[in-house]
Formats: sequence, structure tokens, C-alpha cells
Amino acid sequence: MERYDYLIIGAGLYGAVFAQQAKEKGKTVLVIDRRDHIAGNVYTEDVEGIKVHKYGAHIFHTNNKQVWEYVNKFAEFNRFTNSPVANYKGELYSLPFNMYTFNKMWGVVTPEEAKEKLEEQRAEIPKDREPVNLEEQAISLVGRDIYEKLIKGYTEKQWGRDCKDLPAFIIKRLPVRYTFDNNYFNALYQGIPMGGYTGMVEHMLEGIEVKLGEDYLENKEKYDAIADKIVYTGAIDQFFDYSKGYLEYRSVRFENELLDMESFQGNAAVNYTDRETPWTRIIEHKWFEFGKDEDGNDLPKTVISREYSSEWKPGDEPYYPVNDEKNGKLYMEYKSLAEKENNRRKAEGKPVVIYGGRLGEYKYYDMDQVIARALEVSAEELK
Ligand code: UDP
Repeated sequence: MERYDYLIIGAGLYGAVFAQQAKEKGKTVLVIDRRDHIAGNVYTEDVEGIKVHKYGAHIFHTNNKQVWEYVNKFAEFNRFTNSPVANYKGELYSLPFNMYTFNKMWGVVTPEEAKEKLEEQRAEIPKDREPVNLEEQAISLVGRDIYEKLIKGYTEKQWGRDCKDLPAFIIKRLPVRYTFDNNYFNALYQGIPMGGYTGMVEHMLEGIEVKLGEDYLENKEKYDAIADKIVYTGAIDQFFDYSKGYLEYRSVRFENELLDMESFQGNAAVNYTDRETPWTRIIEHKWFEFGKDEDGNDLPKTVISREYSSEWKPGDEPYYPVNDEKNGKLYMEYKSLAEKENNRRKAEGKPVVIYGGRLGEYKYYDMDQVIARALEVSAEELK
């Protein structure tokens, strides 16, 4: 069998970027993935001309110019701006929290009135100390009313935990604005690759050997024998057969429907922020591309996905690492196990393993962060 400088396990963003960089530096690379397609969780599938985000909505946004220029080499991005709508028991609110939201919630009209109202609402949490959990963080950011209607139910459904038991950082990514700006992200650059993410990853992997339906963990010895180094982007606890226990993940289940109508909800994302509705959100995929096909014609049908969040159990797809204290400690144990394993591998003349990506590093990375990380690690590795 042929030998490779790098065997990359996982054809998602981290793996594809690393592979692309290694190939560019003249290295030989093999990418394998146990799924039957490339692109990992950013995979998009064509249904009636609609690019369906098979593993959940992905909206590319970044402040990192280097990353933005990098991805633009592999795809042209459209002008999509994420502006989800919150549905609380049939009441609709604009997200992220901005003047439209405050006006609907309290009837305030000017930024000054909104600030006054928010100050009053925030006073519940003392200003002189850091919020200790997500609930405190949320209330100190937007106050009790918005917390109860737009955060609490959604967050508890998504994470399956009480907001008092969740880390504050999860909510920090949500902006608060005194303008009429429904752009969900505070990012300089934003958009969706035209024609879908799969095409973008395909371009990254151009000229690189890819084998699908191949499971490294089932054939470790065979694969260790053909590579000088390994880049592993799967779950780090699974690499070690969960020997120190399970890291916790949230998983997501999608109920997809193809509907014979032009528009179901008139927006790409509607979040259901009450506790009673069993799904967290509904994605209507055609709106990521403005409801048009490649030639600019309106698409007559629509595909929606109801998203249900669940606790990960063996056999499920892991989506979100639960980055709380307990799991952080367990991850550190796996990390030191990984170091020991690499020392052992070196001594035995086996390829050492670089663990990367959301699952390999057990970190709630956004797409741009994963790409930045893969660029950074590969640059260090390939210099
Ligand atoms: N969130 C919320 N209400 C919303 C949307 C988000 O409370 O309507 C909170 C929730 O805690 C969630 C976090 O913000 O976990 C980040 O949500 P986002 O939708 O940005 O994360 P994604 O699932 O898209 O990675």
C-alpha cells in the first residue's frame, strides 16, 4: 500500500483545511471519513434545487480577514445576513436583542428609553462581580423579561440543563444593540458559499485522495502502517475507547419536510423560545439563497427542518461539546492521555497524532475558528 506523509481522519472543515495546506506544501495526503460524503457537518445536499444544510444551519461569519480571504479562494459567498426571528408562544420578536426587540417587549421607542429600561432590568444582578452562570449572565446583559421570554426556554431545550448550571460564556456571543439592526452576528464578513458548503470543501480537497466509508478506529493498525503522521478530527474520548469516561455532547435530530408551497415561514431561521414547543428552531433552507435557484428563478417548493436537541449517547452524532467545568476536567485527562500515547507511538516508530477540530479539541468552535485553528496548527507543523 502507498505511504502518505499525512493521514487525515475526517473530511470536515478542519481536516479539509489541513489537507489543503499540506498538499500545497508538497506533502502526500490521504483523507478518510467514515461517512459516505465529505464536508462533515457543513455538508449540504441538493433537494429540488434547495441546498439543505443536512447537519444544521451553518452561516459563515468572521472578523478574521485571513480566514475570509482563505475561504473565498474556494467559494464565492453570497450576501446572506443571519437575522433569526424568535417565536414565543406565537409572539414574534427580532433577534439579536435590538431596538425592534425592545420596542415589541416594552413599547420603548428611542435608544435612550431602551437603555433606561434595560438598566432597570439589569439591576437585579450586582454589578461588582462576574456572573457565575448563564442565568446571571443573561439577566445582567438583557434583564429578566427578555431572559424569561427569549433565552430561558430555548437555552434549556438546547442544552438540556438549567440555566443556573450552564457556563456564562455560551450567551456572550449574543449581541445587544441600541440600533434597528437585526444582523445576528458582530462580524465584518458574513455569507453562505453559493452552491453550498459541499462544493467549497470539494474545492479545498481538489487533487487530494479521499476515501469515504472508512473508519480509522476500526482499522487503527492498518492505517497507522501507511502514514508518517495522523490528523484526527473525531471525538477525542472515542479515540481512547472512552477509557476515562464519556465526555458530554449535545446531539441534534432533524425532522425534514419537503412542502409544496413557496414559503413556510418567510425566514431562514425561526427560534421557538418557549419551553413547551418541543423543537428549538425551524430552518427553512431556501432562504439561505434568497429562495432562488442558480439561474435566479424562484423555487416553487420549500424544505423545512425542525430541530430537536438531545443528550448525546453512544451511537448518536455528537454536535455541541458541553464546555462546563466537569467536562473541561475530563477533557484535560484525555489530553494528557493523548500526550502519553504520542510518546509511546514515537518510541514504537508509529505515527504521532494531532487532534483537531470541534470534536478533537472538545471545543465549541465556530467555522471560522476551526479554519483559523487548522491554518495555525498546519503552519506550525509544515514550516
Ligand atoms: N440563545 C437564546 N435564544 C435564542 C437564540 C440563542 O437564548 O433565541 C442562546 C442559547 O443559550 C444558545 C446560545 O444563545 O445556546 C447560542 O445560540 P446560537 O443560535 O448562536 O448557537 P448555534 O446553535 O447556532 O451554534
